[in-house]
Amino acid sequence: MTIERPKADVVIVGLGWAGSVMAEELTRAGLNVVAIERGAWRDTSTDFPPAVDPDELKWHTRRSMLQPMSVETTTFRNNSGQTAAPVRNWNAYQFGWNVGGAGTHWAGMSWRFTPWDFQVATQTAERYGSAKLESLRAEGLHLQDWGVTYEDMEPYYDRFERIAGTSGKAGNIKGQKFEGGNVFEGPRSREYPTPALKDSAWMAKYRETVNGMGYHPFTIPAGNLSQAYVNPLGVTMGPCTYCGFCDFHGCGNFSKSSPQACILPVLMRRPNFTVLTETEVLHGVKHEDGKTLKGVNFVTREGEEGFQEADIVVFTAYQMDNVRLMLLSQVGTQYDPETQTGTIGRNYNYQTCASVSGFFPGAKMNPFVGAGALGVQIDDFNGDNFDHTGLNFIGGAGIMGYSTDGRPIAKMNGLRPGSKRWGSEWKEAYARDYQEAGNIFVQGTSQSTRDAYLSLDPTYKDRHGQPLLRTTFDWNRNDRDMAAYMTAKAKEIMIEAGAEGISTDNQAAESWNPYKQHSSHTIGGAVMGADRSTSALNPYLQSWDCHNLFVVGASAFPNNGGYNPTVTVGALAVRAAQAIHEKYVNNPAPLVEG
Ligand SMILES: Cc1cc2nc3c(=O)[nH]c(=O)nc-3n(C[C@H](O)[C@H](O)[C@H](O)COP(=O)(O)OP(=O)(O)OC[C@H]3O[C@@H](n4cnc5c(N)ncnc54)[C@H](O)[C@@H]3O)c2cc1C
Ligand code: SF4
Repeated sequence: MTIERPKADVVIVGLGWAGSVMAEELTRAGLNVVAIERGAWRDTSTDFPPAVDPDELKWHTRRSMLQPMSVETTTFRNNSGQTAAPVRNWNAYQFGWNVGGAGTHWAGMSWRFTPWDFQVATQTAERYGSAKLESLRAEGLHLQDWGVTYEDMEPYYDRFERIAGTSGKAGNIKGQKFEGGNVFEGPRSREYPTPALKDSAWMAKYRETVNGMGYHPFTIPAGNLSQAYVNPLGVTMGPCTYCGFCDFHGCGNFSKSSPQACILPVLMRRPNFTVLTETEVLHGVKHEDGKTLKGVNFVTREGEEGFQEADIVVFTAYQMDNVRLMLLSQVGTQYDPETQTGTIGRNYNYQTCASVSGFFPGAKMNPFVGAGALGVQIDDFNGDNFDHTGLNFIGGAGIMGYSTDGRPIAKMNGLRPGSKRWGSEWKEAYARDYQEAGNIFVQGTSQSTRDAYLSLDPTYKDRHGQPLLRTTFDWNRNDRDMAAYMTAKAKEIMIEAGAEGISTDNQAAESWNPYKQHSSHTIGGAVMGADRSTSALNPYLQSWDCHNLFVVGASAFPNNGGYNPTVTVGALAVRAAQAIHEKYVNNPAPLVEG
């Protein structure tokens, strides 16, 4: 050990959204915080000026901002009978790798989960009877509540949205419904901080079509700001220019909600905050009694090893690395699918997604007008917003007509079926179809199962000699049936809109494959709950087995909603941070008896 750092009140591992929110809340409460981030510093003005940012080849095609494969990957298999092999390119997994994490280059779709998502077990039994819940459980579904309700989460959702400046239109304020917003959403305490984004040509067509079908369209809540905004931390953001180079790119315009734009300008000025960049945490180190962590071991870019002592350890290293760090730190017990014992790695889960494409002869969609979260959605078939009586599944999906980007390289694959792929006919087809395409994205819930889990790989190791994380996962019957139902609904919308050359891609129709996914929304593995036999963390994201360890990220979700995860991650981070400085520091002990 060569570097011994001064003891901190709190050490935070990973400085993405979760780490930044935690650090802001805890330093404002007066705690001395050290964050350790394995990626480099990233700054809006120097790293993403508008002249550099629209480099599609660099950022989107080559994914230059994601964690390099040479640093770490995961291994994957569909079931325990197979031998896992390393994942060799980033598709399903898109790990962040810089100060700001993936929050620097996310798209900005800023969802709250539905009240049902937090209580799938209770609400399924209440609405459809306990026999339905038990029969799904008998099939192997791990249906369980989160230990918090939507109502518990509302103030923390509100806080995160204010920090992020989220643009949107409320559909439900304190129970009163508002047309134009999402009338299916859980009650909000107030309107979004900034108004909704404007419609693109395709969004207007989609909105008109679904309106005519009797559904309830609304503009997606966005982290691409519709107007200038000053957040509660005093940070100013500018309006989005609909540049269309958003996800996988940084925003040079200070318009995308991100740790860089919303939190770091304030955090970096606080004397009680320190960040160590290009420094990787290897694992937590336990005290002799084995009940708490005394700090973390790390290694710098130069290969020097060190130790950071702290009273409180917070893992905010993204869903996968949170679980890996728990296993490497030997906190809790590895989940075993045979015996159904152990909780670390349990409830690993993905998301059921599908897309439908169609073409509108003569249309001028102008897809170069775009933003990461620009789209119109219906939630009529999301979560439990519709009656599942007589259906053989639970859950559902948001169905959106989106205009997130018009990237010229990516779009060349979106031609009408049968188009030539080279020469002048290809050029002609591309010029036509770039303007005439409309796309629908179906983002579905997913329920965790007995057979899907995370563990350390017995064979493959990272550059430091530590085991890679192994994923064992395939779609379950409920998710496959649900995804097929939702894909058919989306196709009906495309037909109703009058498209030709319609094609569908339902990812859950075949076995899960990390190279063929439309979503990076991977969850679970260190889940929260009120029952310690089925969860790794209590409802404040405190480890049941190690009371000075808090683990924040989508690793805490026991099941996946039909939404992107980040606003729920941010809200959980605010809640956990407040529990730490309001309760835990005065009485360092389990916050919940379990
Ligand atoms: C292209 C793209 C588009 C997306 N679009 C959306 C969207 O529209 N809406 C949405 O809700 N979500 C979206 N997401 C997901 C979103 O980015 C993540 O949910 C969010 O960033 C997770 O935040 P986090 O803080 O938990 O993790 P991260 O942002 O991944 O931050 C974790 C940080 O920890 C660091 N780290 C990991 N291990 C270690 C270690 N051992 N030592 C030190 N540091 C470590 C990593 O380098 C990283 O910087 C998108 C993601 C991608 C990649
Ligand atoms: S679309 Fe808007 S938020 Fe996204 S990068 Fe461009 S200006 Fe920024």
